[in-house]
Amino acid sequence: MTMKIPPDEYAERRKRIRKRFFITVLIMLIPIFFTGFFVGKSFSAPKIIIVPEETEKVEAPIPQEEEQSKEETSVEEKPTGKVVYLTFDDGPSRLTDEFLDVLLEYDVKATFFMQGNNLKKEHLLESVKRAVVEGHYIGGHSMTHDFHTLYKENQFVSEMQETLALIHELTGESPHLVRPPYGSAPGLKNEQIRQQLVDAGIKVWDWTIDSQDWKLKDNPAQIIENIKHGTNEDKEIILMHEKTQTLAVLPEIINFYKEQGYHFAIYDEADHFVLNFQNDIRL
Ligand SMILES: [Zn+2]
Repeated sequence: MTMKIPPDEYAERRKRIRKRFFITVLIMLIPIFFTGFFVGKSFSAPKIIIVPEETEKVEAPIPQEEEQSKEETSVEEKPTGKVVYLTFDDGPSRLTDEFLDVLLEYDVKATFFMQGNNLKKEHLLESVKRAVVEGHYIGGHSMTHDFHTLYKENQFVSEMQETLALIHELTGESPHLVRPPYGSAPGLKNEQIRQQLVDAGIKVWDWTIDSQDWKLKDNPAQIIENIKHGTNEDKEIILMHEKTQTLAVLPEIINFYKEQGYHFAIYDEADHFVLNFQNDIRL
């Protein structure tokens, strides 16, 4: 006895079989499709990575520049409020490195006025270079430091030019600022010398506070007293020397100005201001 399938049911079955076939094929195709998709994706991945990389490369210099300008601002200590310039004369000396150590420890920049006959001493050359590398300014303080030679024999300008050239030779810097030994008064009262300085493009700085440190070997506490007593302006330029007694009280001097809210600045040629006892605005 054969089961006779009614034609309706038969068509229905065929329909179901076909449906199952399509579903099976579909199920088999899905993994293939996804594999292809992911493989394709991973192959095109470098493109996606390159794009952000390139974006990063474009963006990278911007924050770097921002950081740099921030750094420059902190180094220059732009005179926004009270500002103090620590200046040290007569170097380089056997103490220069120790001065640099203290300045480095307190993160303070200074201005050095160095003497030609000391700049010629071979064992001090590294200290001179180090001062520049660590962000300090080096100006000239003559070759001989001799009052008579400088001011009576009219050797001031030529000695300063020689000193500045020496500094350039040693450090690669081209400073134009000098400090006259014993100050511009009375030394630079001579209009002829001042005109020579103007012609040579040399600037002259004296100071606002004389610490008198050079004569206080046995009384370094008095150096601090002199400085504290003299401090009453928003801009102070302190005259000091590379002396043992000065080195001993330097941390206290730095702390005093920090407590008083002063910023420590170094001389900036682009931001020069007149500071000479002759009140010559050309210098
Ligand atoms: Zn001097």
